[in-house]
Amino acid sequence: RTSCSNPSSFVFSRKVSFQTVNAVINALTSQAASSLPAASTSSLHGLRLAIKDNICTKNLPTTCSSKILENFKSPFDATVVSLLTANGAEIVGKANCDEFGMGSLNIHSAHGPVVNPFGVKVASGEVVERRSAGGSSGGSAAAVAANLCDAALGTDTGGSVRLPASYCGVVGLKPSYGIISRWGVVSFADSLDCVGVLARDVRTVRRVHDILAVYDSRDPTAAPSGVREKASQLLTSHFEHVQGDSLNGLRVGVPQEYFPTELQQSVVTPVRRILEQLRARGATLVPVSLPSTPYALSAYYVISSAEASSNLARYDGIEYGTRVEPPPGADLVKTANVYAHTRSLGFGKEVQRRMLLGTYALSADAFENYFLQAQRVRKLIKADFDRVFCVPNALASSPSAPADGVHVLLHPSAIETAPKLRGPDDATDAQSSTLDAYLQDVMTVPASLAGLPAMSVPGGQGADGWPIGVSVVGQWGCDELVMRVGEVIE
Ligand code: GLN
Repeated sequence: RTSCSNPSSFVFSRKVSFQTVNAVINALTSQAASSLPAASTSSLHGLRLAIKDNICTKNLPTTCSSKILENFKSPFDATVVSLLTANGAEIVGKANCDEFGMGSLNIHSAHGPVVNPFGVKVASGEVVERRSAGGSSGGSAAAVAANLCDAALGTDTGGSVRLPASYCGVVGLKPSYGIISRWGVVSFADSLDCVGVLARDVRTVRRVHDILAVYDSRDPTAAPSGVREKASQLLTSHFEHVQGDSLNGLRVGVPQEYFPTELQQSVVTPVRRILEQLRARGATLVPVSLPSTPYALSAYYVISSAEASSNLARYDGIEYGTRVEPPPGADLVKTANVYAHTRSLGFGKEVQRRMLLGTYALSADAFENYFLQAQRVRKLIKADFDRVFCVPNALASSPSAPADGVHVLLHPSAIETAPKLRGPDDATDAQSSTLDAYLQDVMTVPASLAGLPAMSVPGGQGADGWPIGVSVVGQWGCDELVMRVGEVIE
């Protein structure tokens, strides 16, 4: 079995990790590393970061793990990348991911699957057990777990930072929607996409988060300064409950719907243990109900696929994307042929499936029954959360909240430990398990639909000895509260 029970103490030789784990697809040598000559007092000085390959970097290709962008190099850095380098961080390379962020296991990648470092022997680099690193930010999580970097940026549309963090035994934060700039981040589903941070401890996640959580006028969905201030005012009086290790007065909600039948029993035990620890420090545990949760997964896949079908229309081999010419003698109108060939060969199967699903959901016949219905479910999910939190939602027109509501929610991050990778050709035989893969997101999508901050923190081990994560979820704008509670748990 694995040689190390604590992934944060992994020390890999770079060579072994690069090849075996397949986490970093384009690396910079340290001389060429993308950092400004920053003073040693810069707040991120000395911090090495990997950047998910759907975030634009001008020094390295940005492929989104897709054949259609295999030759793409962005002429600019995403705002998050500029902020990192301006503050002294070193960018070590681009992290493997599921194509355009679509997936839960990092098997849908033109660069091949990412192997979870937890199953790799430290000394020899031998893969003892070949399991998924989770997706879609699997390369980011694996690079952090394998000590190839101190932190990594991922993106989280429906769980893509939290799920790999849970499988790899690291910390992963999806901030409140709109808090971190998406300018220069390749869109999957704009109304859900968030840039997230992964690291081996909460302290490092906070260091990076605090640098990135600034208003950016180039991102039209960025939360304006006024809303940020309002959220921090609404939150101020609640901080007294998380002073150091004491949690006196903190109310932690345990949502009953987050223990579905699909949940592995061995995942529940460590979650119970953590809840007991929180209680021992003075927190009150409150059973709560979020009744619309069972509809979240279907609503998420309809909305995210609809937005993706629109976003990905630009990769047509004419405006964007590696062009594939049709064979000689093809009889259709030439442009339609270029378009069809480029998209059929450039996109992987999973991305094609999402675009078809999304286009169908937006078609006249299906719009009312699928797309609008999913938007209604999204509203119900948001209302569920607003009913249980004692911190009012700063985005509401007249914020109010129940005084006896909870400060945060706590639940398992995933229904199981990291699933096994099947073979060298994981992506092709994954088709039969598409629904299984979608099910992995059942715990993470509600916070995405509601735009809430959510963080997965290592919570111990399942019956098989592999890492499991627990998630802390807060009201919109309560990112710092979520991190403080996470810090007590880790
Ligand atoms: N696994 C989900 C999906 O496939 C979430 C992906 C993400 O958060 N980018 O859509």
